[in-house]
Amino acid sequence: MLYRTYGKTGIEVSALGMGCMRFESPDRPDEMAQVAYRAFERGVTYFDTAPFYCGDKSEDILGLAVREMKRTGRPFRIATKTMESKEEEIRAQLERSLKRLNVDAIDFYHVWCLVHPNQLSERKKKGVLTAFRKLKEEGLIRHICVSTHLEHTYLTEMFEEDEGLFEGILIGLNAVNSAMRVEGAREAARRGLGVVTMNTLGGGLITRHEDHFAFLRRPGDRSVLDGALRFNLSLPEVTVALVGFRNQADVDSAVESVERFEALSTEEIEATRNRAIASSQEFCTQCNYCRDCRAGIPVLRFMESYNRRILAKDDPKPAIDQLKWHWGIEDANAALASCTQCGYCQESCTQHLPILSRFEQLRADQAKLAEKKAAEQSQ
Ligand code: SF4
Ligand code: SF4
Repeated sequence: MLYRTYGKTGIEVSALGMGCMRFESPDRPDEMAQVAYRAFERGVTYFDTAPFYCGDKSEDILGLAVREMKRTGRPFRIATKTMESKEEEIRAQLERSLKRLNVDAIDFYHVWCLVHPNQLSERKKKGVLTAFRKLKEEGLIRHICVSTHLEHTYLTEMFEEDEGLFEGILIGLNAVNSAMRVEGAREAARRGLGVVTMNTLGGGLITRHEDHFAFLRRPGDRSVLDGALRFNLSLPEVTVALVGFRNQADVDSAVESVERFEALSTEEIEATRNRAIASSQEFCTQCNYCRDCRAGIPVLRFMESYNRRILAKDDPKPAIDQLKWHWGIEDANAALASCTQCGYCQESCTQHLPILSRFEQLRADQAKLAEKKAAEQSQ
């Protein structure tokens, strides 16, 4: 296992972290706790969970593994999160997390899920940073972090607002979306923050489409997983790359991949990024040149989700799921209602994508899936 220092904290953590959002059988908590314990046995020391993961069972499952991990006396670190903004609600959620996780303090506690550019300032008005600071002074939180899906163009602004509190960032970064994310990771690292990547495998997108992403592989690699992990861990800014283990076999393959790790050179990283863009001509590269929509439509988010439709060979579900679960857009129709069809985004698009027809497709997909769901429920 590789170990790296988390930002300025001086804490050493495993470069491979366990994302606890993909347990394959959350209804069998003891069995799933063994997945986390297996990761620990194989050298993983960074565990990332959250309330509501796996039907709200993830923290409980990890808590069972924590009991076993404590008995060994060896170090491990727990990261969890809250979307709450007011002190009373944050405290209530934190106390629940501590109890479920069987720990006295959370090592890395995250202001969770900043997806809109002004969200930190809105939560600040409700007292989120004051509450986090207080909980840290009380020793219930060891380090204050942030988890965000914001595009890199907004991150500097976010850091300007954090009152110097953030010590780490959890950011969705992988070989496919690096055009949008690497600058954000660099900015965080420049400020001395630990950088943890979620979506390291593109939420399974990369490993599910081995053929498309074959360019990530090198001779001797066992699968595209090796290439995806190698890309993230080669970025000098990255402290930990999370992988969501479903079972013990997932643990073993990721650990073995890291054990074979040989870093890409700067030139190889750039070549990989360029290959990712070149192999995806019809894809949104997430450059965000379309960001100045006067109607406030987050064009990138729709087009990034549409990438999944292409990879899924026109199956609409992955794109609609991505809009909902990753970008927080529950209703594509409502979110696109203010679009005036002015065409500015299409004219600005570096990939010359037919953005407006893709909007229409996503709207139709959403309606179709909703109809299907209603029909199933009425049976
Ligand atoms: S067509 Fe105009 S209003 Fe609609 S998303 Fe593009 S830039 Fe915004
Ligand atoms: S300009 Fe085009 S490629 Fe770039 S983020 Fe917007 S839609 Fe995607």
